[in-house]
Amino acid sequence: MVKFTEIDDELDAAITAKKTTEPEAKKVAEPEKKKTTATSGADEGEDDDDSQSRIIGRGNKPAATYDDSIADELEWGDEKVMSRSGGLDRLRPEKGKAVRFAIIPWLKPLRALTHFIDKKGTFRCLATEDEPGLCCKKLAEDGQMTIAALVLHYTNAPSKDGKYRKDEHGRVPPIEYAIEYVQLGQTNYRDISELAPEGKVVTDLDIVMTHKDSGIGYKFVMATDNARWRQNETLVAEVKEACAKFMDRKKLNSKLGKKVSLVEMKIVLQSLVAGAEDQSLDDVEML
Ligand SMILES: [Zn+2]
Repeated sequence: MVKFTEIDDELDAAITAKKTTEPEAKKVAEPEKKKTTATSGADEGEDDDDSQSRIIGRGNKPAATYDDSIADELEWGDEKVMSRSGGLDRLRPEKGKAVRFAIIPWLKPLRALTHFIDKKGTFRCLATEDEPGLCCKKLAEDGQMTIAALVLHYTNAPSKDGKYRKDEHGRVPPIEYAIEYVQLGQTNYRDISELAPEGKVVTDLDIVMTHKDSGIGYKFVMATDNARWRQNETLVAEVKEACAKFMDRKKLNSKLGKKVSLVEMKIVLQSLVAGAEDQSLDDVEML
């Protein structure tokens, strides 16, 4: 029953989704803005208005505080906007290349059951512990176990095999990194869990991820059981700071499929039956 309350909340959120999109886009730009116009009182006021209208907009009519300001202008071809991922990129290797990562120890991975629906994306399964969801019934499949884990991606590890090598001066290059996440299926999760040798845990390791030779699925091997980034205390402190904004788990949670209400799921599933015409309409909406 608790689940249904949540679902209702989600529906509210969906109804007001159009409203919240704008403030969220602003929020992303906010840190930069703050740096350059730290003393601008106007900006602060604007943000207050946004949060206020969001709360009021939830379920009730927006009343007199409706924000009718125009959204930010944009030039075509803006790289930042095109590559925007909500601040947390998914780490996965290109075909034939390797990526090296370590799992962030301060945040446990999240798991959820999801359905991938062709041309629609990934959705959170609506099944409860007791019974399958409408999604499972209509799609004739169980929800797939999907796991998301926050990782440190060694961005300058050679893409050939993920192994750092000494340069001509006998030094291994200092680490360059990005905080990203890996999305794993059940098999990937098991493979990684089994990598740690006796006396070590998964978060002690540096892991190299490649495509399997078959081209289907990923392969994980241990690069070291003494993760490189954890050898340097200054770096550890820096990484901890970089992870701070993800510690509420919201970003990671959002990677585990789109959460929809029962009603919204019905609409998605109906459009599958309705055929190509509706699909193209949906594609337009996605723009
Ligand atoms: Zn389901």
